[in-house]
Amino acid sequence: MRIPIIAGNWKMNNTIRETKELLDALIPLIRDAKCEVVVCVPYTSIAVAGDMIKDTNIKLGAQNVHWAGKGAFTAEISADMLVELGVEYVIIGHSERRQYFGETDAMVNGRAKTALLKGLKPIICVGETLAEREGGLTEKVVTTQTAGAFNGIDAESLANIVIAYEPVWAIGTGKTATSQDANDTIKVIRDEMARLYGAAADAMRIQYGGSMNPKNAAELMAMPEIDGGLIGGASLKAEDFSKVVLY
Ligand code: PEP
Repeated sequence: MRIPIIAGNWKMNNTIRETKELLDALIPLIRDAKCEVVVCVPYTSIAVAGDMIKDTNIKLGAQNVHWAGKGAFTAEISADMLVELGVEYVIIGHSERRQYFGETDAMVNGRAKTALLKGLKPIICVGETLAEREGGLTEKVVTTQTAGAFNGIDAESLANIVIAYEPVWAIGTGKTATSQDANDTIKVIRDEMARLYGAAADAMRIQYGGSMNPKNAAELMAMPEIDGGLIGGASLKAEDFSKVVLY
């Protein structure tokens, strides 16, 4: 049984004041959630969010982590810094990092390995662009990104990793993959994990992300391969995120 996991990716949104307001509203709304719930907040909000959610059913997440332990990497963040603040999950390889900041599969792999070593749970994002989808490259892209991200990661670590399938053309655009398309591509990713790890792939949780919202969450979550969601826009409003979480 794979326990569904729904994570909010706040991206570069919410000051400390706004973080307090959003979490104040969200905490009581999702007390009865049946899935695992995570909020991946900006670095500046980690401490305050951690304090606010420590006795709740919401887990704390960050949006990136560097592969090096420490050093001359201006503006990056280390695993130790996140662990010290109680962070449990960390998004790695989000398409916005790949697209705007040139992150490669090798960087994603390095970040994931360091996160695991330090006890953080990576949420590793993979997904094709519109041009890649239209060029019939979806399977190739997601399997290449998956194999690249997991290079050198052992099977025992899989229980601590989540994959998010996020078609780039569906992120922040209001366009959602059909539930069947999302399910089919997640199956492709799971098959790739099975090729790499055998039966252990069955237990891996693979989320869908891309304009998931209160209207489409139930249908997406009903698909057999979809084990949760990574939610951008809809995670910024307590009511919307709670409806997704309570799908
Ligand atoms: C995301 O950023 O991971 C995401 C899925 O965003 P949105 O829900 O806004 O499409």
